[in-house]
Amino acid sequence: MHPTRTRMRTLTAERQRRPVLAFFLTVFGILWALPITLFGLALAVPILLWRGRAQWIRGQTVALLVRGPLADFLLSHHPFGAMTAMALGHVVISEAQGLSARVLVHELEHVRQASRWGIVFPLAYLLSSAWAALCGKDAYWHNAFEIAARKAEKRI
Ligand SMILES: [Zn+2]
Repeated sequence: MHPTRTRMRTLTAERQRRPVLAFFLTVFGILWALPITLFGLALAVPILLWRGRAQWIRGQTVALLVRGPLADFLLSHHPFGAMTAMALGHVVISEAQGLSARVLVHELEHVRQASRWGIVFPLAYLLSSAWAALCGKDAYWHNAFEIAARKAEKRI
């Protein structure tokens, strides 16, 4: 067989396998982050019941975007300070008005982080903040996961 032809067949087979691999990685990420996602869903239910709305986001990963008056209230009274949006596993809770493409990309990076780190993500996030604080830096701004999320914003 001609070597070029063999190479082309190999490349074609790889392209056909990638969506399957991506699918299994997505499913694994969803299961791995499920305990955090369940916490996010526990918050999403009352947000939806109080004039809220939900939307599926499907890109490199999947997420349920939830907005509504209760989300606005919870985000503006967050114990770490007012915020525009937050990701809890595969659930993104956002202000009804303040969601921009940049904020969404930032939060989807946190969704990807949760699918990679799974149940230990909240602990890893807090340890990264603690490490930044111990080094005399800002616990939020210099958190490694926030740095990665800000880097993701620049890709849009
Ligand atoms: Zn962030």
